[in-house]
Amino acid sequence: MYKISPTISGLTAALENNDREFCRKLLSEAGTLRDRTVGGKVYLRGLLEISSICRKDCFYCGIRCSNGNASRYTLSDEEIISASQFAFKEGYGSICIQSGERCDSDFTSRISRLVRAIKDISDGSLGITLSLGEQSYDTLLEWFEAGAHRYLIRIETSNPDLYARLHPQDALHSFDRRLNVLQDLRSIGFQVGSGVMIGLPFQSCRDLAGDLLFLKEFDIDMVGMGPYIPHPGTPLGKECLSALSIPTAEERLSLSLKMVALLRLLMPDINIAATTALEVLDPRGREKAIAAGANIVMPNISPARVRAGYDLYEGKRNLTESPALGEIEIGYNQWGDSLRFKSRV
Ligand code: SAM
Ligand code: SF4
Repeated sequence: MYKISPTISGLTAALENNDREFCRKLLSEAGTLRDRTVGGKVYLRGLLEISSICRKDCFYCGIRCSNGNASRYTLSDEEIISASQFAFKEGYGSICIQSGERCDSDFTSRISRLVRAIKDISDGSLGITLSLGEQSYDTLLEWFEAGAHRYLIRIETSNPDLYARLHPQDALHSFDRRLNVLQDLRSIGFQVGSGVMIGLPFQSCRDLAGDLLFLKEFDIDMVGMGPYIPHPGTPLGKECLSALSIPTAEERLSLSLKMVALLRLLMPDINIAATTALEVLDPRGREKAIAAGANIVMPNISPARVRAGYDLYEGKRNLTESPALGEIEIGYNQWGDSLRFKSRV
């Protein structure tokens, strides 16, 4: 195994190295380390996409508010509770509630109510992760006190200049605000998850190496990172499908797997998700990410009637809800909390 130094130049060199034998050893070493640190089991979070309504306009995302062709839906309380009951009965241990960003009080108080209701139907035993975008300190605190204990918000890229090219230039889409939300989540006591998109236009391997070091320096508890997949109904997607160049699907898959492996080597005791977007590039994408050190899978538990509406990127609507996991052992009825978080607190 080549020695990888945990520096910007060492990680950049590893990401740029496409030697087959090097890549094979890197991924397998990370998989072995995962088994030794967080164990060989994979934990499930049932992913519930509760609404495609979003106030933001991120250039890459199919449900951005300016996409007039996006279909907008919001699940009813009954649908959310019944999907949570399904996850509980199936032994998933945890659910993740995700949605477009809304900050109005109707939305924020509804989330608090729903978190309490989901805790009630499971005698407190179903773990709840939220992924509802940037929210005020008070809102996040209210949701934490209602019973949510993990929160996911991707930094998308740790390079502020690249972040600025992916978002409108206004206060709603500020890199600094996103960082502040990550800090707020940490100080409230959440297990904090973040991550990045891989293979974006204008993104270099050095940027990705910087992302790995950013996650390490923040001492993140959980990570969900995956390939960027262009959506033809977005400004960035349109440009990628015409003038702008991005790495090929094969290159984005390989980069994503190497990012998972390098992060596992850098942060042996965190939770790393095998993300859904990988499966657009390869039907066995999530299985491969697990072999490269990931230990979390998020099967989609949203009702079939709305699946196509949460249309973030091309190909997402055609995915099956449950990834092929082969012989992988599942940690049923367990939260599978981040060991990093446990040791820090
Ligand atoms: N609205 C919340 C937020 O932005 O944090 C949660 C939902 S948002 C759809 C979840 C993630 O989807 C984003 O953090 C982004 O990384 C990812 N995403 C959006 N568009 C994507 C695309 N075209 N390719 C890959 N991932 C994408
Ligand atoms: Fe909205 Fe999240 Fe999509 Fe941005 S990434 S447009 S905040 S749903």
